[in-house]
Amino acid sequence: MSDTGATEHLQLRTCPLCEGMCGIEVRHRDGEVISIRPDRNNVISRGHICPKGTTLGELHHSPDRLRGPLIKENGAWREVDWETALRRCAELIQPIREQYGNGVIAAYAGNMIAKSFDLVRYVGNFFGLAGIRQIYGSSTVDQHPKNLTCMLMYGDMWHIAIPDIDRTDLIVMMGGNPSASKGSIFSHQDVMGAIRSLRERGGRAVVIDPVETGTAQRAGEWLPIVPGADAALLLAIVHVLFEEGRVKLGDLDGKVNGVDAVREASKDFTPEAAAAFCDIPAETIRTLAREISDAPSAAIYGRIGTCTQRFGTLASWLTDVVAILTGNMGSPGGMMFSTQVASHLDLAPPYPSDAPLISHHSRVSGKPAVLGLLPSGTLAEEIDTPGEGKIRGLITIGANPVLSAPGADRLEKALPQLDFFIAFDSYVNESTVHADVILPSPSPLEQAHWDVWAWPWCLSSGGHYSPPLFPHEGMEEWRAVLTVAALLSGQPFQAIDTNAMDDNYFASMCTVLGLDPAKILPLAPKHGAERILELAIRGGRYGDRYGEREGLTLDDFKAHPHGMLVGKAEPGVPLRTKSGKIELAPQYVLDDLPRLRSAMTEKRADTYLVSRRTLRSMNSWMNNVHTLSKGPERCTLLIHPEDAAGLGIGENDSVEVQNGENMIVVPAEITPHIKRGIVSIPHGWGHDRPGSRLSIAEKKPGVNANRLNPAELLDVPSGNAVVNGVPVTLRKHDLPGAPAREAALESQV
Ligand code: SF4
Repeated sequence: MSDTGATEHLQLRTCPLCEGMCGIEVRHRDGEVISIRPDRNNVISRGHICPKGTTLGELHHSPDRLRGPLIKENGAWREVDWETALRRCAELIQPIREQYGNGVIAAYAGNMIAKSFDLVRYVGNFFGLAGIRQIYGSSTVDQHPKNLTCMLMYGDMWHIAIPDIDRTDLIVMMGGNPSASKGSIFSHQDVMGAIRSLRERGGRAVVIDPVETGTAQRAGEWLPIVPGADAALLLAIVHVLFEEGRVKLGDLDGKVNGVDAVREASKDFTPEAAAAFCDIPAETIRTLAREISDAPSAAIYGRIGTCTQRFGTLASWLTDVVAILTGNMGSPGGMMFSTQVASHLDLAPPYPSDAPLISHHSRVSGKPAVLGLLPSGTLAEEIDTPGEGKIRGLITIGANPVLSAPGADRLEKALPQLDFFIAFDSYVNESTVHADVILPSPSPLEQAHWDVWAWPWCLSSGGHYSPPLFPHEGMEEWRAVLTVAALLSGQPFQAIDTNAMDDNYFASMCTVLGLDPAKILPLAPKHGAERILELAIRGGRYGDRYGEREGLTLDDFKAHPHGMLVGKAEPGVPLRTKSGKIELAPQYVLDDLPRLRSAMTEKRADTYLVSRRTLRSMNSWMNNVHTLSKGPERCTLLIHPEDAAGLGIGENDSVEVQNGENMIVVPAEITPHIKRGIVSIPHGWGHDRPGSRLSIAEKKPGVNANRLNPAELLDVPSGNAVVNGVPVTLRKHDLPGAPAREAALESQV
């Protein structure tokens, strides 16, 4: 009891911010969060937490977080009620739609979707109903190459294997840094602890990365590589496996098509041919291939660095090829696939689930839409290039592409040229500042939570339901999403019936699960995302199928606030290919090999820029939290001491980093933990744009590295952005008397 007589309460929930699924104890009183601590009894995290998880209260209470919709009138924001905001959306959409059709309207889905209870379940339905083909998303600045290769190899873009780190003898990590990200498309209570345990039991961890990350330091074995060269390294490993007769499919024997084609494809990628391109000696490559082959079990984990580079598709394909050829795919201690309690990605996929490999091409530069997504970097040219089909309307959903997508300057200039811009977002940020309407999301503590974006990549099968902690005053987010979808499909505002739309959606999901909607709908009358969660559990592999058999319901998870584990991943590879086999050598992927061969003969640039994440940040949306942003400057340029000395750059200096006409100034952080010739700037910064309302982030804005990352530099097969391996030039920034950070600011504005 407090001095005021108010009672303190405790709620157990999971932090929704990343795949860590950390259980937390939230103490609160009178609508205020008092403290957030780790839940030591949580079945997954068992007391693990990172600094971000303790700040959900700050996020909730932030005065910058929007509580109600905003509309822009004569350049000024006005807070309005939900009906007024949605009527304004109708006024904006209708004339454009009537004059030009939906082909001039685009949508951009950001990664906040993955953290939202409603958005993650409704955004795919939004795209389907709205009839929008111009779809962009943060996936093409992240894992799209992996989605593509998993679709081609296993028949499902979300069948992504993860390392069985607790049982492996050797883990090879490429382009991933769990010490900062916790685990990305890989859910594990404590990856760093698992690496320590692996080494204690005599196993090994090898990190291949241009930066000696915290993960590499924990692993104790770091192979520095030139960014963008992972595919050549992996092909050379494949070459050795064939050359030395080391290919063994194990349990996958007879279940793999294309082994000979891969042998043929790897023929000229000898370790000697790859060595200079990777800057790794040929003998080291041969040794690594033998070690993977000889290890009783080995896991090859490639993450964001293997995707956001010039050869992201080839690298993403080849990590799995190596695992398959060494008998480590779908086998304990190797790469495994989860078995889930509630398989939302099958039921309510975030992007159009029926999208073909290539559905259409972009208007201006003719880039293909791969699995339904256009390259994020092409959005600006589609807006600012005149002509028929030019994008005139934009919907963003939990996205801040001005900071997160390459070609930032052009996009920032293009957004004000739109006829309308509607944003689902909780902040006036660097992108939504250009919107006409902002429809805010509930805070994480006003929403229920179930880790849709984590369980698919967790080797334990289970669940953890978090109820909303605080009431949400506004419209349910799924209703707002369906309303805007209906407007885009041409329905008049007054005719929109979100309950009927939701029932139709729910009925279609019942059918996917082989359940009769006519029987289930009366049993599940309450609309919204929780009904979908319940369907996913009850209709899933452990569920009771609404009374047809013994099994789990959502109530079982509600009764276990520390979460509940019910099973483990099983050996094998889940397949949805037409052949019923793994397609090891998709022609679409092989067709990219000549581009790699050609790059291997190019002269290397003196300096390449790579991206990174810091533990206290999360893309662009956690830099507005005081607890996380205090302390030393984190948006710095990592540079090797010898590179710094060669340019006369000292500890307190700033550096001009230039690519073409674009230049940013950033404080130097001189460290031996980076390969020579490589520099690194974290992504998600640059909070200095006029009009945004991020009162904490703007005090330490950092710089936007996407001003240097060119929109046109892509992993060609997937259309994924390249933010690792961008050639830049460096120069010491001479601004006498100006501290580094202020110098950086002055140069940017
Ligand atoms: S951000 Fe991730 S690692 Fe940190 S507390 Fe939340 S779930 Fe755990």
